[in-house]
Amino acid sequence: MTRLLHEVAEAAALLLAGELVGFPTETVYGLGADARNAAAVAGIFAAKGRPHFNPLIAHYASAEAAFADVAADARAQKLAAACWPGPLTLVLPRRAECQVDLLAGAGLDTLAVRVPAHPLAQALLRAVAVPVVAPSANRSGQVSPTTAQHVLAGLSGRIAAVLEGGACAVGVESTVLDLSQPGPPRLLRPGGVPLEALQALLGPILAQPEAAPTLRSPGMLLSHYAPALPVRLGASTVAAEEALLAFGSALPGAGLVWNLSERGDSTEAAARLFAGLRWLDAEGAQLGLTRIAVMPVPEAGLGAAINDRLARAAAPREEAQP
Ligand code: AMP
Ligand code: MG
Repeated sequence: MTRLLHEVAEAAALLLAGELVGFPTETVYGLGADARNAAAVAGIFAAKGRPHFNPLIAHYASAEAAFADVAADARAQKLAAACWPGPLTLVLPRRAECQVDLLAGAGLDTLAVRVPAHPLAQALLRAVAVPVVAPSANRSGQVSPTTAQHVLAGLSGRIAAVLEGGACAVGVESTVLDLSQPGPPRLLRPGGVPLEALQALLGPILAQPEAAPTLRSPGMLLSHYAPALPVRLGASTVAAEEALLAFGSALPGAGLVWNLSERGDSTEAAARLFAGLRWLDAEGAQLGLTRIAVMPVPEAGLGAAINDRLARAAAPREEAQP
């Protein structure tokens, strides 16, 4: 059962053991997992009951720690100096050596990072000394929690523990600013730091979310990674020139196989999905394979989110959805 904790050290030990722990930030309670641990990250989507994999924010104790995982330009440095710790999230390019698991970033080449100000969040992040992904600690579709009791009401029995930290001060989520694309920064989500404060620091900011990611060229989807090789879903046989993304017992005859989960576990499969697509894409191209065949994944558990992502990867490229 889910425990209510009063000690940061206990919460830190659970996180490092791969468990899910709710903790207070100045915005809302986050549902934390060790961002390096693919199984723990998959567990977040399972606990929240998310119907698809959206990218999570990685939390750090300091800007220095955050900027070891993402590439910070002068604008990011300036914002970090002015607004961190605080309710501002920056989307920046992942560094090659980024420790954060691919599923946490929904397979993107960018990563959202934040340094929260709440003293318990700070203490927890310093204690673990690893990046912690933490979406709001509520079931998908429910309101964000601003007390430990809210977290328990939604997630009791689905997560290991919640760190008690009273009511959150800000109560709205962090402002999300995209600095990863050429041109002016873009506001992706209004939140705890007002747009005007960011404009005062950086000058013009595009205030609307990017409208039409579907207009990007083939294979260059804004929002999500799609493999370069075409994807064929629902495979019950596999051709010699195909790579195989397997689930359960792999079909015979494939030139190259990545098994999402031999034991047919959807959470394990989610943890291995993006790494598998990238690996099949790269290795398949090397071997001269022409397509990725995908075995059916049952809808139960994280299967629905996996199928949502695979359907996007398989969609005709000019009509592909974000
Ligand atoms: P939450 O799940 O409440 O923590 O919200 C995370 C927010 O950050 C969502 O609005 C995401 O779409 C956004 N986000 C996270 N990572 C990225 C990214 N790499 N690129 C763009 N938006 C992101
Ligand atoms: Mg939320």
